[in-house]
Formats: sequence, C-alpha cells, structure tokens
Amino acid sequence: MISPNARLDKIPGIGPATTEKLVSLGLLTVQDLLRILPRAWDDLTQLQQIQDLQPNGQKYTIKATLENPKMFRTSRRRMVLTQATAHDATGSVDITWFNQPYLVKNLKTETYYYLTGALVQGKRGLMFSNPSVEIAEKTPIHSGRIVPTYSSIGGLTTKILRRIFMRLIPNLDTIVDPLPNQLVKKWNLLDLDTAIRQLHLPTDTAKLEAAKERLAFDELLGVQLQVQAGKNFLTTSKAKPIPTDLAFIKDVISNLPFTLTNGQKRALWDLLQDTDKPTPTNRLIEGDVGSGKTIVATLAMFNAARFDFQSALMVPTEVLAHQHYYNLQPLAEQFNFTISLQTQSKTIGDTNADIVIGTHKLIHKTVEFNNLNLVVVDEQHRFGVKQREALKLAGSNQQKHIYPHFVSLTATPIPRSLALTLFGDLDLSIIPQPPAHRLPIISQAISNSQRKAAYTQIKNQLKLGHQAFIVTPLIETSLKLNAKSVEKEADAIRKLFPNHSVGVLHGRLDSSTKAQVMEQFKNHELDIIVTTTVIEVGIDVPNATVMLIEGAERFGLSQLHQLRGRVGRSNHQSYCFVTPTEEDTDIMERLELFATTTDGFKLAELDLELRGPGSLTGISQAGFVKFRLADWSDPARIEFAQAAAKELLHLSPTLELYPQLMEQLEIATPNYHAE
Ligand code: ADP
Ligand code: MG
Repeated sequence: MISPNARLDKIPGIGPATTEKLVSLGLLTVQDLLRILPRAWDDLTQLQQIQDLQPNGQKYTIKATLENPKMFRTSRRRMVLTQATAHDATGSVDITWFNQPYLVKNLKTETYYYLTGALVQGKRGLMFSNPSVEIAEKTPIHSGRIVPTYSSIGGLTTKILRRIFMRLIPNLDTIVDPLPNQLVKKWNLLDLDTAIRQLHLPTDTAKLEAAKERLAFDELLGVQLQVQAGKNFLTTSKAKPIPTDLAFIKDVISNLPFTLTNGQKRALWDLLQDTDKPTPTNRLIEGDVGSGKTIVATLAMFNAARFDFQSALMVPTEVLAHQHYYNLQPLAEQFNFTISLQTQSKTIGDTNADIVIGTHKLIHKTVEFNNLNLVVVDEQHRFGVKQREALKLAGSNQQKHIYPHFVSLTATPIPRSLALTLFGDLDLSIIPQPPAHRLPIISQAISNSQRKAAYTQIKNQLKLGHQAFIVTPLIETSLKLNAKSVEKEADAIRKLFPNHSVGVLHGRLDSSTKAQVMEQFKNHELDIIVTTTVIEVGIDVPNATVMLIEGAERFGLSQLHQLRGRVGRSNHQSYCFVTPTEEDTDIMERLELFATTTDGFKLAELDLELRGPGSLTGISQAGFVKFRLADWSDPARIEFAQAAAKELLHLSPTLELYPQLMEQLEIATPNYHAE
C-alpha cells in the first residue's frame, strides 16, 4: 500500500524528470498529487451503438472494430489526417483523427476498441471526430467509465494523470479526515477518503456529486474558519493606539497639489479613528483605479510617524515600490521623516526608517523593524493571506498579544455583501469617486479598419507632449494564438512612429530592467511604451493620455478597466481604444459595452453576468480565495459553512484539537498561536 505521505518518486508511472518538475511546482507527496483535482468529468459508462449516434455535440463511447486505416496529408493546411471506418453489430461510421500520425501503425484489424468522441457533420457526411482510442480488452481508462479530465501540470497530461490515479487509488492507504468523524456524519458529508477516491476514480454519479460537495464544503469552511478565528483574534488582542494629530494632518494636506475628495476624507477619517484604538485595525480601502488610495494611506503613515511609530507599505511589484518611494520621498523630507526602499534589486535607507516601502522582501526573516505599528498592503489581492499575516507578525509582540494596525488597499470592486462574507473580519471603506476635475476617459471600440483613427489620436497626443501605452496580450509571437505580441507590435510601432522613442515592457524582463524602463517612461525619456498587462498594477504616469489595447477580447471587462485606469490620471483629456484580434459581433458588442461604461463596479457586475465569478480580477488570483469546487455566489452553502466554522471554533477556540484541519485546509493561523 502507498501512504498518502509517500514521496512522489516512490509511485509507479512518474519518472524522475516529471518528479523534478512537480517538486518545482511545490508538489512533493502523494497527498499533494491527490489535490490536483479534475476540472471536468464525462460519464462514458454507457456504450452506445453506432446506429444510435447523434450529431448533438455530446461525447459517446462505442465499442467497435476498425477497418481501412489510412493516413494522408492535406495539401492546404499541411495536416496529417488519419481515417478509418468503425463497425459494430448495428452499423458503421467514418472516423477522422487530426495530427496523430503514429496512430495508423498501431491500429489492428479484428480487435475491439473503445472509441470516445463526438459525432460531427463533416464535408463528406457524418463522422466521428478525433475520438480517443483504447483496446477494449483492457480495463478502460479513457472510456467506459466516468472519466475525469485534468488540466495538464508539470508535463503530466490528462491521459497520464488518469493512468497514474487509476493505479494509485486502489493501492492507497486511508486518507485521514481532518474533520472529526461525528461532525462529518452530523453535517451529512462524505468522508475525505471516499471523496478523494471518487474524484479521481468515480464509481457512480451520485457518489461523485457527494465528493464534489465535500471538497467544496472544505474550501468554504477554510475561509469561514479564517474569517471567524480572525475576528475572535482581533477582539482579544491589543494594539498601541496612534493618536490623531488633526492640525498636523491638515498641514500635510495643505502641502499637497490637490484637495482631497469626500471619499478620500471619509476613508482617512475611518482609518484614523481605527488606529486610535487599543485593538488592531483591520480595514480594507476599496476604490477604483485612480481614486487616490495612496495618499489616504500616506496620511495615516505620516500621522503614525508624527508619534514616532514606524509604518510599512508593501506592494506587489518592484516597479510599484520604486514609484511609491519616489513619489513620497519629497513630501516625507519636507516633514523630516525618513523613508526607505527595500526591494530585491534596490535598497535605499534602512528598516529603521519612519516609512519603509518594499515588495514581499519586507516579510523576509532578515528584515527587522524598529517600532512597526502600521502596516499597509497595496493591491492586497496580489498577496496571499499568509504573506499579509507575516507582515502583521513582523510588527507584533506576541508575548504581550500586541499587533500592528493593518490596512489594505484594492481596486478590485467586490460587492460589499460578498466582501463581508469572504472577509468578515475586515472593516470596509469605499472611495466611490475619482477626483472631480478628472475628465472621463474617451473610450472607443474599434475594428481593424478603424485602427488608423487610434494612431492619429496617438500622434496628436504625442504632439501635445503626452505619452502613450500600447497593450498587447502576449509577450512573444505564438504559432497557436493569433493575437498580437509585444515583440512584433513594438517593431510595427517603431516603423509607424519613427520620430518617437518606443520602449518595451513585459513580465519576462528581469526586475531591474523593468524598473529602468518604467523610470524612463516616467521621466518622459520614452514617448510610447509597448507592454503586456504588467502595467495593470498601479502604475502612475499622469502624462500618459492615450492607450490602445490590442487583442482586447482576451481580457475581462474588469481587467480592461484596470488597464484603462493607467490613463486619465491628470486634468488632460485621455483616450482609450480597444480592438480585437478578429472581428466578431459578440466580441464587438462586449467591447462596446466596455467603451460606454465608466464605472468599475458596473463592469465587475457585467463580468459576473457574462463570464461568471472567476472573471473578477483579483477574486481568481492568489490573494483572494481561489475556489476550485465551491461557488462563492451560493449563499446557502456559505451560511452552512459559516455555522460549521462556528461549531468547530466553539469546540476548540484555537483549533488546537484539529491540527490537520489547519494544515489541510491551508488555514493561515500564525495569529492565534500567539501564546
Ligand atoms: P489608486 O487609487 O489607483 O492607487 P493613486 O493613489 O495612485 O490611485 O492616485 C492616482 C493619482 O491621482 C496620483 O497621481 C495622485 O497623486 C492623484 N490624486 C490623488 N488624490 C487626488 C485628488 N484628491 N485630486 C487630484 N489628484 C489626486
Ligand atoms: Mg494604487
């Protein structure tokens, strides 16, 4: 028998090269492998007779012999086609496989095969298209049962994974359920061992559904335990209050080149009231891109510095850290505060500074703070729960149960009700409107033939001394995808704008190059920057007034909105053009919808309607909860998980009775091991 804790190189079917890849992905044990869940299941238990096949898009499995296998190349698209005819007692059907040249050699006559695929209408009549093939004598893997489909990982394709689990599951020792047995029964859940086995090797649909239900419950329970334990923790732990010096704050504000919006004032006031309390602040400031969240956090940090408390501002990218540093440095100097930058590629000042700005480097063990009492996390959804917790701990005195105040900033619009369910321990301030004098960005969805208009507008803006963004979906040209790439686009743009300097920015450049390019753009040494979505995160170059987004159909509406937020950051009129790779009425309609909607919350709702919950930027990303099976828009199940979490915490307030629960549900709980 194989233990769930066995290392991956101990199980059959996985070679050393693959093991290495899996390890680099963080998968070390059988347990980890079991957590790769299928993304879909097809019920292929019923064998279909050939005479009953329907061209209705559904997958069927037939058991048939194959005759006349032949292979040829199409002249036009240079594809290898393999054809054969399948026979069973009820009739015959033609089969075509694409690009599987090795197939012909292996097909035998007078052998029964399981073939799984869909019947489609081809040019020469109905045909069975690209079915999977396996000899019918063996225990079928890819047909004849409920077949799971996986996303491939570390070189393991769905077919390989099916084979591995097929061998592994029957030889696997019992998986320990982290939930107490009597609660599993009481809550009517499938036990974890059965659930995991069913997901990978389903025996019937009802059990598979119960298995999905169980794992979905675990996901929701994990969040709810986090939220509620967090709440308990907050009310029982202490913080050093930071008094509010209103006169001083007004003085700082009077030194700004603008006046605060009402939304900014309210968020600042909420925050200052929180930090003045002897319990740790935990506030989320949510505001659309460009709504000015940074200055709100900055004023709170200045107020803390005024009372000799240290603040840390953690941001997701080096570029953003540098930008915040260089923006805040002059203002800090004016008030005699010290400010420090801590990133992988650059260090300025030390970690005793009044304000320390940095990337996740701030949570490295080597970074020691002095009197950290206010922690700000910018673009919070880019960070995992554990990373945020780690920074809180950096400023804590765990013996005395004292923790720093914590505030996070996000441009991801999450409806308030949802935010409360998911992050019940957070207080929420919303900055509803951008600064008043801003002109709405003129947005336009354009077809290929209208692209000239965009270039003309870019020319005009450059002539006025402004700068331009050109966003493309890919870094390199891909043979598979037709979409534009940064590389190719930059060449084209250089030709179109020979008298202007063009820079290139994407995620695969090393971070110092990235920072350098951004710096050049910021200093207007570059007129145009051709970039991928790396600029989505908080880049602030107010002089950039025009953006052209290529391959726009590849982005969600919220994401397009985040991108668009990189322009329209000054009192000059800004423009945003979106254009698809290929024109299509549905796509153009969606882009029109984007162009005519300026409200980020509205676009997030539309995304929800059009593409489902996973489409909200942020929600599907690391820091927010990433559900594989649960659906966060299902209030009944969330409430059920809420009640279950309460019950568990009632039985064991710090979960010390259920250590596996913390481990397996990946609950970040450094907090409540405080003593
Ligand atoms: P975000 O909320 O997207 O992080 P930022 O804090 O980067 O937005 O602010 C965007 C830009 O708006 C910055 O250049 C900032 O200086 C400016 N800004 C912030 N508040 C105001 C305001 N009340 N009036 C005018 N400009 C402002
Ligand atoms: Mg920002």
